[in-house]
Amino acid sequence: MERPPIAIVGASLAGGTAAVTLREEGFDGDIVLIGAEAQLPYNRPPLSKGYLRGQDRFDEQLVKPASYYAEQRIRLELGVRATAVDPKDKLVELDGGKRVAYDRLLVTTGGRNRTLSVPGATLAGVFQLRTVEDCDRIRAAVSRGRRAVVMGFGFIGSEVSASLRQLGVEVVAIENARVPLARVLGEEIGQVLADIHRERGVELISEDSVAALEGSGRVTRVRTQKGRVFDCDLVVAGIGIVPNAELLAAAGAQVDNGVLVDERCRTSLPDVFAAGDVTNHLHPIFGRLRVEHWNNGLQQGRAAARSLLGRGAPYDYIHTFWSDQYEHVIEYVGFAAGWDRVVFRGRPESRKFLGFYLKDGIVRAAVGLDRGGDPEDPKGDGELKAAVDMVRRRAAIDPAKLADESTDLRALAGS
Ligand SMILES: Cc1cc2nc3c(=O)[nH]c(=O)nc-3n(C[C@H](O)[C@H](O)[C@H](O)COP(=O)(O)OP(=O)(O)OC[C@H]3O[C@@H](n4cnc5c(N)ncnc54)[C@H](O)[C@@H]3O)c2cc1C
Repeated sequence: MERPPIAIVGASLAGGTAAVTLREEGFDGDIVLIGAEAQLPYNRPPLSKGYLRGQDRFDEQLVKPASYYAEQRIRLELGVRATAVDPKDKLVELDGGKRVAYDRLLVTTGGRNRTLSVPGATLAGVFQLRTVEDCDRIRAAVSRGRRAVVMGFGFIGSEVSASLRQLGVEVVAIENARVPLARVLGEEIGQVLADIHRERGVELISEDSVAALEGSGRVTRVRTQKGRVFDCDLVVAGIGIVPNAELLAAAGAQVDNGVLVDERCRTSLPDVFAAGDVTNHLHPIFGRLRVEHWNNGLQQGRAAARSLLGRGAPYDYIHTFWSDQYEHVIEYVGFAAGWDRVVFRGRPESRKFLGFYLKDGIVRAAVGLDRGGDPEDPKGDGELKAAVDMVRRRAAIDPAKLADESTDLRALAGS
């Protein structure tokens, strides 16, 4: 009897990358890739950047071109949602009742936008951004001189604000923190970014939040908790995502802020693995964490594919992410949920600096604003590559040396 396929539920970055890796690793059996979106697996980062601004084409964002899947005998079930997993009989049930038997299952269902629950959330002109269709709708509503309110100034909100300003849209951004992005980057760096946005014309309102969206049929006004009122033509909410963990939770998998996986991407169910935004994974250096980073979708997708084939090694990728805002590039390496000190190399006011996040003297993470290079560039040897080594080594490094421009970071990192 033929062996059932490896089934992958979630046909986006992590799922698409896993399918590619299975073939690259020489797996010759059947693969089925099931995805709720009608699109082939694609990269989302340009949706708040070049694609939103009309500069990047969608077909350039595909993980692989359409022909690849046929050539590699990867069966696609797109535009259809998996509704249930039966781990005992090893079946995935699809919307419409079709059942797909699996030998091993990889779940890469990612995340969905948190529900916007303020009054007026369903008015026309109110948007959230996760898919290319969401982005197309925003693009259609945007033109020079229109007025947008951006709710939330995390990475999505700040990137969308930058792109809209670049398109000539008036932007009011409303954020409940005192300093935007401070939770991830710290107050000093958050302030640098807030200043950049204000100089570019974003009216950035902090320590306030949206109380209601108003208008008849279409949003025309935003009212805040503190009683401010802003007229607008559109609203984009960037209020975070929730992991799509319900499918596996209902099948009995352990879930806690995402699907719990071990260092080899294994869930608590036999022969069921998970990767990408949906996972809360056990990391040999950072402990348990869930991240929403493109680089993790790629790397954990690869790692999960190897684990599916029994060739896995502990997934110990040092997390990295980036954000592009106007002409500025933020690159971040490591993971620091908390820190007791940020050490700068280069002055924050210069807007070209590195920041190192230290806890108990150990470098947990580092960030570069327009400095430090791309830590993922295989040919690069920028300062952030040295920072990756520091984080990996859990190095206690003299803060004075970290800050001293004449000290070679690579030597400090022992790399
Ligand atoms: C606008 C935007 C900009 C971003 N920019 C950056 C950036 O600059 N840098 C960075 O590091 N990261 C960025 N990210 C984050 C990055 O895109 C994500 O980390 C990445 O997409 C995660 O990939 P994934 O495959 O795990 O999940 P997802 O991309 O969420 O894909 C999951 C897929 O599974 C499908 N699915 C869900 N449930 C089911 C089901 N039951 N059945 C079938 N299919 C299902 C979904 O429809 C989706 O297609 C950005 C994200 C967005 C939205």
